[in-house]
Amino acid sequence: MDPLTPRWPDGQLDRYLTLAGAMVDLTAGPGDYATVKCLGCRHTDVIRYHSGPRGAASNARLGRGRAYDHASRCRTIAPPDGDAPSTT
Ligand SMILES: [Zn+2]
Repeated sequence: MDPLTPRWPDGQLDRYLTLAGAMVDLTAGPGDYATVKCLGCRHTDVIRYHSGPRGAASNARLGRGRAYDHASRCRTIAPPDGDAPSTT
C-alpha cells in the first residue's frame, strides 16, 4: 500500500472527485443497500441492490453510475466546520 494514500473505511467501494474537489463515497450497506454520499453538499442516495447471481455486476454498475453522475455535476464545497451547506 502506498504510504501517502489514506486507507479507505471498511465497506467503501469507490470514491469520486467532484468538480469542486469534494469527495463522493460509495459504500456497501446497510444490508442489501449501498450508499452514495457527497462530502461537499451532503447529498445522500441509498440504493437497493439486486440479489441473485447477476446482481453483483448490476449493483456495481448502478452504484458507480450514481456516484459518478453526482460527482460530475456537484459544484458544492463543504464548509470548513463540517456543517451542511446552507440552502437559504
Ligand atoms: Zn454533492
